[in-house]
Amino acid sequence: MTCKVFNRDEYKCSICFKELKEKLSQRVQHIIPKRLGGSDSLNNLSLMCYKCHG
Ligand SMILES: [Zn+2]
Repeated sequence: MTCKVFNRDEYKCSICFKELKEKLSQRVQHIIPKRLGGSDSLNNLSLMCYKCHG
């Protein structure tokens, strides 16, 4: 599932659209947090670079 998110978003941060080549430098982020009932489906996941995530 994680790989599908990377492919869909073309390895770019969903906030700043910075292109990041290393998977370790970006994070898969839940749009609706799991603790609030968000799912692990593709449409609830987006990429965020380390800077935007922090
Ligand atoms: Zn970013």
